[in-house]
Amino acid sequence: FDIRQEQISASEKDYENALRPLSFDDFSGQKQVVENLRVFVEAAKYRGEPLDHTLLHGPPGLGKTTLSNIIANELGVGFKITSGPVLDKPGDLAGILTSLEKNDVLFIDEIHRLSPVVEEYLYSAMEDYRIDIMIDKGPSARSIQIDLNPFTLVGATTRSGLLTAPLRARFGINMHLQYYQPETLQRIITRSASILGVPITAEAAAEIAGRSRGTPRIANALLRRVRDFAQVRGTGRIDTNITQVALTALNIDQYGLDEIDNKLLLTIIDKFKGGPVGITTIATAIGEDAGTVEEVYEPFLIMEGFIKRTPRGRMVTELAYKHFGRNPYTGNIM
Ligand code: ADP
Repeated sequence: FDIRQEQISASEKDYENALRPLSFDDFSGQKQVVENLRVFVEAAKYRGEPLDHTLLHGPPGLGKTTLSNIIANELGVGFKITSGPVLDKPGDLAGILTSLEKNDVLFIDEIHRLSPVVEEYLYSAMEDYRIDIMIDKGPSARSIQIDLNPFTLVGATTRSGLLTAPLRARFGINMHLQYYQPETLQRIITRSASILGVPITAEAAAEIAGRSRGTPRIANALLRRVRDFAQVRGTGRIDTNITQVALTALNIDQYGLDEIDNKLLLTIIDKFKGGPVGITTIATAIGEDAGTVEEVYEPFLIMEGFIKRTPRGRMVTELAYKHFGRNPYTGNIM
């Protein structure tokens, strides 16, 4: 059961969309980000201008798509969604840009994966609301300029380190989403359960929240699975009992650590005697690239106190040893 999988099925997409908050008021957590965005949105609306281009970065499932959709709703403008890998050719981008109406929001997910040519194109679109497109081929080829409606680009990325400097410089607003506190996740789970029409106790919601890896997407995915257990093995109501049965059956550990988290920690413990060890060495050992480990996997483990950053590299903490039932001095199983 892999809840951090990159590819999610169509039914999971529908489920996610059904639970997506549509206004700032419905969006829990990320207080500072939301408060600032409220001001910027209000000001743009007041002036009748597009919101400044906005970059949202942070790990997957923390609400980047949701927030950009909310921004469009709160601005009262249209919303179009695409992603870096999908925009293959400049023509793909031109097609979307020319379809935008005044002050619309264009959301580009995984913006760090834009091809360099498409990215070049985006520069003048972002800066001057204008693009040059080539028409015809051969000797009659010429470029024509097309004026676009003013629009807001909201870019999302899990890997802000991979953004080129010129692209980054074109975003007036730059916001980082943080992992959520368990209390906030509990509120999100309670809200989702109510939308789904499943009764849930406060304790059960708290239990699921604690195992959701600080991530609303995981919280909602776990809720969905626990609901299955409650409906098939229980009374339909989600209580602590059925929650524990479900989470045990799904192999979700106490902190919600997943396979990659466990692999990363065990690698440092077993191959590098608990550290300190450099991030590149860890990444190579688990077959990932260093940037992904640093921006996507490690922050949660640091936040939860499993890993420490030291000047000589990463070290696992006593908590990590305890989590695996290991002796912190020898690394052996206790
Ligand atoms: P991202 O784009 O960062 O990967 P999404 O915006 O797609 O994440 O969010 C994933 C799921 O989590 C969605 O179903 C959304 O409803 C839910 N979600 C994310 N953030 C929140 C939040 N702050 N409050 C309620 N639900 C949220």
